[in-house]
Amino acid sequence: MPTFKSKGKSESFTLAGGSTRLVDSHHVRLGRVGEVKTYESMRKLYRHLERGGARIMSVNIAERRGKYTLSFTVEMSRVIPAPRAPERVIGIDVGLTTLYTGATPDGAQVLSVANPRSYQRSEARLARAQRVASRRQGPAPGKAPSNRWKSSNARTQKIHADIANARKNFIHETTTMLTENYDRIVIEDLNVVGMLKNHSLAKHISDASWGEFVRQLEYKAPCYGSTVVKVDRFFASTKTCSSCGAVKAKLPLEIRTYHCETCGLTIDRDLNAAINLVRWTSQAASAGTRSVAGRRGEVRPRRTRAVKARPDEASTETPALVGA
Ligand SMILES: [Zn+2]
Repeated sequence: MPTFKSKGKSESFTLAGGSTRLVDSHHVRLGRVGEVKTYESMRKLYRHLERGGARIMSVNIAERRGKYTLSFTVEMSRVIPAPRAPERVIGIDVGLTTLYTGATPDGAQVLSVANPRSYQRSEARLARAQRVASRRQGPAPGKAPSNRWKSSNARTQKIHADIANARKNFIHETTTMLTENYDRIVIEDLNVVGMLKNHSLAKHISDASWGEFVRQLEYKAPCYGSTVVKVDRFFASTKTCSSCGAVKAKLPLEIRTYHCETCGLTIDRDLNAAINLVRWTSQAASAGTRSVAGRRGEVRPRRTRAVKARPDEASTETPALVGA
C-alpha cells in the first residue's frame, strides 16, 4: 500500500529513464521538466552514454535542505579487474582516536587515518544556531512558523548538512582508495547498535560512521574485484598479542599501547588489532576457507582462546565473503 509522506522534509520523485537524456556533461533533459543545468559535472556518465556502454534506467529527483539532487540508475557493463597475484591484503581496525588503522600480513602499518570528528568540530556552531532558532516562533499547533524562525532554522539545517557531507566525502575517499588498492580487506564485524547503548561514547561512535564505512566497502569491493572479509565479532583482535598470540583478559579503552606480558611486545593498540585481523584471514585462507564450494564449516582453524561460551555463536562458520 502507498505510504503517506509529510510535505517539506525530503521530497522526491522518479522518472523513467526513457524520457531522460544527457545533453552534455552539465545538462540533462528530463521528461516534462525540460533541460536542467547541473552544478556538478556528469562527465563520467556522459562518456559512458556516448560510447553506448550504459543506459539510463531511471532518474530520481530529490530536494533536501534546499538542494536538488539527481540520482541516475544506470545499466552498464563493467570490466572487473582480474585478481592480482600476489594478493594484496589489508586488515583494518576502526577506532575513535585513530579512525582507521591498516596493517599488512607482514605487520607493517600501511594506513593511519586520524578521526576528523566532523560533528565535534561543528558542535558549538550548531548549538548557537539551534539556540537562536529556539527563541523564535517555530511551528506549533495552530501557529505558523515565523519568517525569522525559518531563516534561522535553515542555518541550523545547513550546518547539519555540512557535517554530513564532510563525513560522507571523507568515507568515500577512504573506501575508494582501499577497494582500488587491495584485493582483500579484512575488517571486524562490529556490533554498532550494541555499542551505541554506551551513552558516553554514542555520540563519537555515530560520528565515526563505522557502519557507513563497512557499507561503502562492501558495495565498492565488487566493482574493483576485491573482497571484504568480516571477522566474527567474538574474535578478540584487540586483546590478542600479534606476536605470540597470548590473550589479555582486559584492555581498557584509555590504554593506547598494547604491552604483552608473555613476550614483552610493545605496540600501538590499534596496529596490534589490525595485524591480528589481517593475519586471521591469512590463516583461514591457507587452511582452505577460500574454497567456498562444499566444505563450509570445517575449514576454519580452531582457535585456542577463551571467550564466553555461547550456544548460538556461529564460530564454526566461514567468514562472510562479500562479493566473492
Ligand atoms: Zn606476546
